[in-house]
Amino acid sequence: MSKTALFPGSFDPITLGHESIIRRALPLFDEIIIAIGINSEKKYYFPLEKRKAWIEQVFAKEPRIKVISYHGLTVDLCKKINADYILRGLRTSADFEFERGIAQMNKAMLDRLETVFILSTPELSAINSTIVRDILKHGGDVSAFVPSGIQLK
Ligand code: ADP
Repeated sequence: MSKTALFPGSFDPITLGHESIIRRALPLFDEIIIAIGINSEKKYYFPLEKRKAWIEQVFAKEPRIKVISYHGLTVDLCKKINADYILRGLRTSADFEFERGIAQMNKAMLDRLETVFILSTPELSAINSTIVRDILKHGGDVSAFVPSGIQLK
């Protein structure tokens, strides 16, 4: 049976932290679906089309990685696409506390679902999309924090 993992997030924008987690997880699964969640109550900095295109560009040479977007519950998407695993990255103990609740609730809703956590490498653990957006808003250079080749405009 093929092992499909879903990597849900906002990716507003994708960072080196996201890229690293996905590349490190790839040997564990047959396929990773990067799923950009659309929450109508949330304001995003970059439009969905751009966020999706940048991720597709980063993983263009990797046929086992796909990018989709979705509305609604992550567990419902897992049911729909037959994913048994959710992939998440952990940077800090705050991430862990937050992720633990979500993972336990997701498992309560869909028992076959396992959430797999990958610890951030130390040099990438300070990177997050919020800080990247703040730097951009103030005209700073984010090239050290986002995948190479991505033009954030
Ligand atoms: P969300 O809106 O769900 O927080 P994000 O796009 O911010 O989505 O993050 C998606 C996933 O990537 C989360 O599991 C998050 O912990 C992980 N992640 C984000 N930045 C990093 C990083 N620098 N190192 C490791 N994991 C990260």
